[in-house]
Amino acid sequence: MSLDRGVSTKPIVEKVAIASAGLGGLATAIALRKQGFDVHVYEKAQEFRRAGAGLGLAPNGLNSLAAIEPGIVESLKSSGCDVRQGIFKKMTGETVRSNPIRSTYLEKYGQPLITIWWWRLQQILASKLPPETIHLNHRCVGFEQNDNGVEIYFEGGKKVYADLLIGADGLNSVIRENLIGDGKPHYLGSMSWRAVIKYNHELLKPDELVFIKGNKQIMRLLNVGDGYICWITRKLLSDCSVSDSATLAKSRVLNELAGWEESVRALVEATEAEQILEGPICDRPPLTHWSKGRVTLLGDAAHPMAPALGQGANTTFEDAYELQECFSQSSSIKEALTTYEKRRIERTQIIQTRSALGEMRYYEADSETSSRQTQQQSQTTREEFQDWLHNYKPFLTDSNPKQFF
Ligand SMILES: Cc1cc2nc3c(=O)[nH]c(=O)nc-3n(C[C@H](O)[C@H](O)[C@H](O)COP(=O)(O)OP(=O)(O)OC[C@H]3O[C@@H](n4cnc5c(N)ncnc54)[C@H](O)[C@@H]3O)c2cc1C
Repeated sequence: MSLDRGVSTKPIVEKVAIASAGLGGLATAIALRKQGFDVHVYEKAQEFRRAGAGLGLAPNGLNSLAAIEPGIVESLKSSGCDVRQGIFKKMTGETVRSNPIRSTYLEKYGQPLITIWWWRLQQILASKLPPETIHLNHRCVGFEQNDNGVEIYFEGGKKVYADLLIGADGLNSVIRENLIGDGKPHYLGSMSWRAVIKYNHELLKPDELVFIKGNKQIMRLLNVGDGYICWITRKLLSDCSVSDSATLAKSRVLNELAGWEESVRALVEATEAEQILEGPICDRPPLTHWSKGRVTLLGDAAHPMAPALGQGANTTFEDAYELQECFSQSSSIKEALTTYEKRRIERTQIIQTRSALGEMRYYEADSETSSRQTQQQSQTTREEFQDWLHNYKPFLTDSNPKQFF
């Protein structure tokens, strides 16, 4: 294809380029290939490494994945953990309460909560695509578009042409920077350290999720399948700098865990320093538009959010499903992308805002939390919000979001 190829008689889209083989990029590629489009994903990583941490797939994300790839929920269950209950503990190890998760989720939302390793989820999604459509070692550096197409540029001088470019390149998206240009993400005031390790931890049973609250610090323990567990700790800190080396990052996190239950520290001690992901928790202000011409955004590139509600990947899968729906029902790229924004921006904006609030509540003393929650949740209960969030079903979305703010 050439950018000046003249008037075309082809369907609205034939060739689609997706920047990244992350979770959103792969899910969107699977969905759009089912529309008969020629879809290629371009990923900066040189290989699929055992990267990333653990994450939770909630009913809304699972419904979207199941609509894209029927049967996938069963393979996610067997590759990750179908969580039976959540346990809340103090930093001394004492249990505060436990919540039944599996029975409640299945009864209310018809799907479980699955915890899984980011890398394993990436592998499952990648296995649904022909290998020749995944191009590793392609770091996107920019694009140019006109009425006829979009030209995408990669590090090293490579370029490709497509009818449509989807930027699914995460929090620090190059496509967003070129399209919107709104600078760096916004630091939300807490730092995060995460790792996945094969470990048998005394505080975590095979089908549980553990949440431990410390002083302006939290720790989550997740089973992510095959005997691996993921630990994630976040701490309210004004210093958002990252350590100069893996060894320093490990010392820093151990230092931040001084005074915590010994078995928690032992888990971090047992983790190889190179496996620890250290980073600031960030989001960006919600956008009113995220498409221009033949280019659009999806997932963290479009609506990065604090991880408090565990919705980043889940809303990304909603995007993937909705985007393909919009293309299947529209007669022009403009119509498809306008409908996509209409269906997605309001919902994700609510979830982004609520996630940022939730992130701050983690670090409040319990007395502060209850008085503020009482005020802020006077109009609507936490349960109503959870129901609205998790009850998202492709086709059946409540398009009239409740007034949560
Ligand atoms: C501490 C923490 C806990 C979390 N827990 C949860 C959870 O429980 N549940 C949940 O739903 N979400 C969770 N999330 C969020 C979730 O991980 C992200 O929202 C999700 O991965 C977003 O998917 P994505 O495809 O948009 O981006 P990503 O999965 O981040 O993928 C981006 C991809 O883009 C590639 N890339 C980047 N730049 C370029 C470039 N220039 N060219 C080509 N490729 C590029 C990257 O290599 C990567 O493969 C958590 C996040 C954090 C920080």
